[in-house]
Amino acid sequence: MPELPEVETIRSQLQKLIVGKKIKEVKVGLSKMVKLPLGKFRKAVIGATIKEVKRRAKILIFGLSNGWSILIHLKLSGRLIFRRKNEKLAPEDTAWNHLIYYFNDGSRLFHNDLRQFGYVKLVKSGELLDFFKKEKLGPEPLEKEFTLSEFSAILKRKPKAKIKQFLMDQTVIAGIGNLYSDEILFFADIHPLKRIADLKPAEIKKIFEGIKKILLEATKLKGSSVDLYLDASGKEGNYVPRIKVYGREGEKCQRCGTTIKRLKIGGRSAHFCPACQK
Ligand SMILES: [Zn+2]
Repeated sequence: MPELPEVETIRSQLQKLIVGKKIKEVKVGLSKMVKLPLGKFRKAVIGATIKEVKRRAKILIFGLSNGWSILIHLKLSGRLIFRRKNEKLAPEDTAWNHLIYYFNDGSRLFHNDLRQFGYVKLVKSGELLDFFKKEKLGPEPLEKEFTLSEFSAILKRKPKAKIKQFLMDQTVIAGIGNLYSDEILFFADIHPLKRIADLKPAEIKKIFEGIKKILLEATKLKGSSVDLYLDASGKEGNYVPRIKVYGREGEKCQRCGTTIKRLKIGGRSAHFCPACQK
């Protein structure tokens, strides 16, 4: 599932690729992806120009010239792939395609999704703050305002929670999922099931540093293609060789040589080194 680094990669690429372009036509192949009547959606987006591409948590926001914003959540397996006019299409451009935006200069944006959990919504740009308030999303971990003292204060709200589940809870911090929570906890030497009340101040600081460092590095490397994720140019991300524990059950820990273990936690898996992470 795309997490903050993957969605932010797509956002920054699309910011360069589609801003200033006018939507000439939109073709919807799978209407359940669009969470409003199709006629209303088409009427709002056709003829509008893309003013900006923003992100909140794992949600992409296309701000339009007419006061509407298109919200796109890629969920488990969504892709957004941009192709210029006359650019030759690769098989992944059209695989599981459900929506195509056609721009006035002949370029196109393909919204593809194998498992079809993703969505497209339309919100008035002036009402975005209210929309995200209702979604109860936690702070953006890469913003300057997200400081160690804020992180410590958030942790105090749920002293009984296990740290792995806490990091993945979108209402406490936005954008972290299964992969990066595993990597952050390995970086910090913290066992995924450790309770927040048992964390020492130095451990909290290390987790905080891990959040910033790992999310930033993964974003710079255009994310991790462990599943179906591709960036906006249809390419895989480059972070996978840096992954230390996620999906590496049975392999040796790169730090100490102990075998990486996997355990179930609330319907998800945690991967960790039983020797390094306490
Ligand atoms: Zn180890």
